[in-house]
Amino acid sequence: PEPAAAQDKRVAIEARGIVKQFGEGAGALRALDDVSVAIRENEFFTLLGPSGCGKTTLLRMIAGFEFPTEGAILLYGEDIAGLPPFKRPINTVFQSYALFPHLTVWENVAFGLEMLGRPRAEIAARVAEMLKLVRLEELARRRTDQISGGQAQRVALARALAPAPKVLLLDEPLSALDYKLRKEMQIELKRMQSETGITFVFVTHDQEEALTMSDRIAVMSKGRVLQIGTPWDIYDKPADRFVADFIGETNFITASVLGIEQGVATVRLSSGAEIPATIAEGLVPKSEATIVVRPEHARAVPAGGQLTGIVENVVYFGTDTHIHIKLAGGELFMVRQQNSRTQSCGFEVGDRAGIEIAPDAAQVLRD
Ligand code: ATP
Repeated sequence: PEPAAAQDKRVAIEARGIVKQFGEGAGALRALDDVSVAIRENEFFTLLGPSGCGKTTLLRMIAGFEFPTEGAILLYGEDIAGLPPFKRPINTVFQSYALFPHLTVWENVAFGLEMLGRPRAEIAARVAEMLKLVRLEELARRRTDQISGGQAQRVALARALAPAPKVLLLDEPLSALDYKLRKEMQIELKRMQSETGITFVFVTHDQEEALTMSDRIAVMSKGRVLQIGTPWDIYDKPADRFVADFIGETNFITASVLGIEQGVATVRLSSGAEIPATIAEGLVPKSEATIVVRPEHARAVPAGGQLTGIVENVVYFGTDTHIHIKLAGGELFMVRQQNSRTQSCGFEVGDRAGIEIAPDAAQVLRD
């Protein structure tokens, strides 16, 4: 559970019972199906889900480019249905950046402020401040058709942040960048968010991106929100199979529930071993249940362990090694072990291996 102080925080954006239907009759599509989220002030909030789950539709609704079929969008408690996009204290950074190529970096960042008719001195000060924030002071006079993709991304951010919106919406803004730059920008974005104190609503289908940057994440699938929580909640206490599978790698094994005491079930695995397993929030386990164990919470051992099987694959990843073990019942179980610089993982394909599951690692899941 979250600390009480966090729960008291003011809600900046609330989506309440949002339904969005595109088209009519047989061809109708429910892009959003009863979506409710409350995004707090100063929060880095991420909408995470596979392509087509409705993330962009929800973001566009917050921006005012799209209207709900049912439900309401509230900004600090007020329904903003009647406010056109340009009147909302909300800005968007698009995937394409949409910079003006013939203008300089400085002019691009100043653009929104000039449209708002702010005084010259204020614009100059604000643009300087924004270029400092995104670390582009040296490029102020450069035309934006003569800068790199990563730099263009920073200009787009500076331009969107310049008018000091209450909320910044970001639709997959890092997807055009190469891997290293994307990693760097993830950290930068988080820094910019905490330095400005502006509420960020970030859309991505990249689970790693969501885990590294977000204060909280809403995991979406097929127009619904499946779970809202901190990265830690989402990764370590997935609400259901989709969330567990979509975020990180995981093992699903079936087990019999023998008993439940204070939110912890005792389950019997296919091997006959009995282990404790916490229960996903709000779940009433059936007698046959799916158990989830993250690969890094188990290790392969030459003998012993709660499960045994035959090593089917050993994959080296530099920092760690993934060992795929086929259990007696035919299920595959993957363990992830940290590598040492001097020793291999000690297992080869065809070896017999035991699997030692860490205490507290198992969770009973909603299917
Ligand atoms: P992606 O990551 O691919 O952008 P997404 O999660 O952002 O996906 P949306 O763009 O919100 O998904 O789309 C949700 C669903 O609504 C999709 O099935 C999409 O085809 C559909 N959709 C979106 N906009 C429209 C529209 N204007 N008319 C009809 N269908 C639409």
